[in-house]
Amino acid sequence: MSQGSADDSARRLALSEEPPTRLIGAAAAPGVVVGRVVILDRRKVQVPRRHVEDSEVEAEVARLRGAINAARTQLEAIRGTLPSEAKDHGLILDAHLLMLDDALLVDEAEAAIRAEKVNAEWGLRKSVEHIKALFERAEDDYFRERRSDVDFVGERVLRQLMGNAQEVPKARGETEGEPTVLVAHELSPADTASLRNKGFSAFITDVGSATSHTAILARALELPAVVGAQGATKFLATGDRVIVDGLRGIVQLRPNAEQILGAEARRRRYAQFVRSLDGNRDQPAATSCGTPIALRANIELPTEALIAREQGADGVGLYRTEFLYIDRRLPPPEEEQTEVYVAVVRAMGGRPVTLRTFDIGGDKFSTAFRLPREMNPALGLRAVRLALREREVFRAQLRAMLRAAATGPVRIMIPMVATVAELRAARAELEAARGELQARGVTVPDVPLGIMIETPSAVFVADLLAKESAFFSIGTNDLVQYSLAIDRGNEHVAYLARPLDPAILRAIERTATAAKQAGIPCALCGAMASDLLSAPLLIGLGVGELSVDPHAVPEVKAALARVSLREAREVAAKALTLATADEVEQLVREAFASKLADLLAAGE
Ligand code: PEP
Ligand code: MG
Repeated sequence: MSQGSADDSARRLALSEEPPTRLIGAAAAPGVVVGRVVILDRRKVQVPRRHVEDSEVEAEVARLRGAINAARTQLEAIRGTLPSEAKDHGLILDAHLLMLDDALLVDEAEAAIRAEKVNAEWGLRKSVEHIKALFERAEDDYFRERRSDVDFVGERVLRQLMGNAQEVPKARGETEGEPTVLVAHELSPADTASLRNKGFSAFITDVGSATSHTAILARALELPAVVGAQGATKFLATGDRVIVDGLRGIVQLRPNAEQILGAEARRRRYAQFVRSLDGNRDQPAATSCGTPIALRANIELPTEALIAREQGADGVGLYRTEFLYIDRRLPPPEEEQTEVYVAVVRAMGGRPVTLRTFDIGGDKFSTAFRLPREMNPALGLRAVRLALREREVFRAQLRAMLRAAATGPVRIMIPMVATVAELRAARAELEAARGELQARGVTVPDVPLGIMIETPSAVFVADLLAKESAFFSIGTNDLVQYSLAIDRGNEHVAYLARPLDPAILRAIERTATAAKQAGIPCALCGAMASDLLSAPLLIGLGVGELSVDPHAVPEVKAALARVSLREAREVAAKALTLATADEVEQLVREAFASKLADLLAAGE
């Protein structure tokens, strides 16, 4: 629960002068791997500048085109090898492929070769730098973020030109019978997509965060990974042995025999733990006294619906539809969205699916919208506020959701509602969307409209909101940010963001009580619901539905089954009298840790 130990080690690491024995990064994809390192050495190649004679110019242009074609073939091949569960991420590779055809990149490079009589490498470099400069000046975050994509694509072509294809190599471990770990400064999504096929069992990068496309892809491919492990390429060499701990975000360099034994034991324990929970997948979630709890999954990609179902989730409690809007310049058309939502509804086989309307703005990708630069994006044009400004886009999404509702039980959820007026405005849009569909002759079923409770004002007026809302889902990730005034993406204050803070517990209890009085369900879909010690406490506070990471479903189900409703309520009542997050954390540890010891140990 507390981040103290990771912070302490990082600090110790920064102070020590010896080469470190371990590196702390971000846990990007779970699992523990002991293996041999292969370093992907991609120090920036020095781009040569050469004058070419008039007679050589066309040959240089042809060389550039050849390299672009070769890069395209490579990217298409990688795209083709993506396993079906990672196909959604193909969009990122599509964007890279499109860039190779982009007139801005290709024509400019060719023009530079011809006008300045320079070699293909130099022409390419000029064009890449120019595009990056254009993106740099863009007002829109989306375009600024795309600079690294231009680099990925430019480097790929450059490596072709210089006869240094520097593709991710094949893993060596296959011959030596030991798993192989790729260590790179940075990996593009395309590189990551090729790792499984090349025989790698895990990877480590110097830079990156757990929410990057690369990390998301690693999770979809079930490839244990630690990203942002600063110094990995500096302190490791090809052939070194390493422990990749994707559960804790730790890299152990050149481990000794005892550390290897420990890691192997952890790896087996984790694998066994995952297997041991297989049995509960078909069981409904309930407390030890038999009170049923709706345990649902949070998903971001349509394919995760299948994982949610496989893991035994009783529906989707939160489908973050933002993913549909990233890496594209225009919002997804109604038809495309309908297909995606219908696929999720079908995958869940009759279990409820909660579709959240887009929550874009703040720290989330802005892509399909032209968002203004804001001083305080978290307090700015985000989520429902953006939806009510971009009404056409909002309505297209609502129409797609309503159409999907004809194929199974769908609930629609509005993010970041702060006032009753916003809820009413969103409902009016939903009714307008319904009217538009009916005018087309489409029959539309009744769909429950609920809201996320993630702003303090929504908690204060929860009684009023409950009268006009079909359900609540508490978003503690944001509720913590807005209630405790802690930027959720700022590592300097991350240690203060504690969901077990008394202020948050009171907000949850107050919301659950308002829902109960109005006779509507109250769910919780923040990351807190996946925390094994917090889950029973939430039930005690009156939350009736939890929505968690798909992979956390079996363990949260196991945790709930060991605590009775009465115990949970007693602990919750006591927690509400405590004054600090430390005291609450200690209370839940004392109350539940011994019952959940094996479950807690599996992730440690
Ligand atoms: C939350 O804020 O708790 C939540 C579930 O929404 P998101 O993390 O997508 O903002
Ligand atoms: Mg939120």
